[in-house]
Amino acid sequence: MNNLELWQSVLAQMQLYISKANFATWFQNTEIVFKDNEKIIISVPNAFSKEWLSNKYNKIILKTLHDIDDSIKELEFIIKPQSVKSADSKKPSEEEKQEGAQLGFEEFKVNKETNLNPRYTFDNFVVGSFNELAHAAALAVADSPGLTYNPLFVYGGTGLGKTHLIQAVGNKISDELRKKKVKYISSEKFVSGIVSAIRTNSMEAFKASLAPIDVLILDDIQFIAGKNKSQEEFFHVFNSLYEKNKQIILSSDRPPNAIAELEERLRSRFEGGMIADVSLPDYETRLVILKTKLQEKNTSIPDEILDYIAANVKKNIRELEGALNKILICSGKLGQELNLEAAKKLLKGFIFSPFDVANYKKIIETVAKFYNLEEKNLFDPTRRKEIVRPRQVAMFLLRKELKYSFPAIARKFGGKDHTTAIYAFKKIQQENEENNKLTEELNLIKQRIYSG
Ligand code: ADP
Ligand code: MG
Repeated sequence: MNNLELWQSVLAQMQLYISKANFATWFQNTEIVFKDNEKIIISVPNAFSKEWLSNKYNKIILKTLHDIDDSIKELEFIIKPQSVKSADSKKPSEEEKQEGAQLGFEEFKVNKETNLNPRYTFDNFVVGSFNELAHAAALAVADSPGLTYNPLFVYGGTGLGKTHLIQAVGNKISDELRKKKVKYISSEKFVSGIVSAIRTNSMEAFKASLAPIDVLILDDIQFIAGKNKSQEEFFHVFNSLYEKNKQIILSSDRPPNAIAELEERLRSRFEGGMIADVSLPDYETRLVILKTKLQEKNTSIPDEILDYIAANVKKNIRELEGALNKILICSGKLGQELNLEAAKKLLKGFIFSPFDVANYKKIIETVAKFYNLEEKNLFDPTRRKEIVRPRQVAMFLLRKELKYSFPAIARKFGGKDHTTAIYAFKKIQQENEENNKLTEELNLIKQRIYSG
């Protein structure tokens, strides 16, 4: 076995361990450049990859090599920049740069038949512990629509990949199972479709248009909350598809049990399949996501800037992409690489510290909105359950996130005895430990508080 074959078989093994996007990020342009009896040297394209591979993948690469050839005991990485001939390292002309940038930012054309955007695929979807379950469930659904989990319900905060993931399912199915009719519809469009069908007395035609669909993907289904007529019609659409083993995929900003004003029968339908969440990626995953985006655009930026973005832009993945695009556009305009200082200035708007955004106003505002209340309702002197619980949550968060004293909390809530605040805090804290639904709610609320 020569070096090339040896490395090929290591790569083949590695692909089994990690996602495609991660694989492409770290293993592209690597090769064995030296091998003696015990030692192997692998070349990598830059310092970043070197550090990453030696810290993260050293052990597993060595083990894989060792399994193939047990004399190999040591592994080293060296940096070998890409040859001058290769497309991405030759100095592009100004014009090419412009084109490249535009190419990268160009939106793919949405498919008229399915409404899917072909840019959302599994291949460019980075997987980490923050979205592992949702990703696995989505893949399972894509492999056998209608048969595994029905419906698939993906929820999580904004900009965390829900639309990307559910469209990836649609794209995979329509690529691989061509006979299957896939339709992606935003819930807003869906609801307005129902409303106008009701108005024009054409509900039957509307339903008939949905009947041939094998995979129905409805994005942001929380939008249907409180719209009773639409919920009723959707319930029938849901059932008729479901009974025929057609796949239904839904996304939402919160789990079914936290969608207020959702009919009970719909809630129980939503809960009848698989519910999976997407949350925030950690630093390492943010780095992989940035690298994946750069690769898609076939461009690069200095490692220190990349690292700065990954370390500081934490709000969500959409912001992460936004920050990267901003850097790319600016360096494109300048026709030269930015330095770190310039990049920091550009990125000011993307970076926040939790202490800047979690304040009294933000907590009250977010809690009220989450529970569909007006802010002033939180201060109503009432014992109604719909108010008491949100009020306790607000008190809990003031204490927990802002370290307010109990008397201070009591003062904010109309000079109540501070034992009320202590009671609220203890109650929520205890329930948070015992009750998953509440924990989920608190997480979602916190996510919103901290996302600016
Ligand atoms: P949501 O629907 O949850 O608000 P989107 O699916 O619109 O979020 O994602 C926002 C942006 O972030 C999109 O451009 C998407 O491609 C990107 N993105 C989200 N999650 C991932 C991921 N895991 N890997 C790569 N890109 C992602
Ligand atoms: Mg979305």
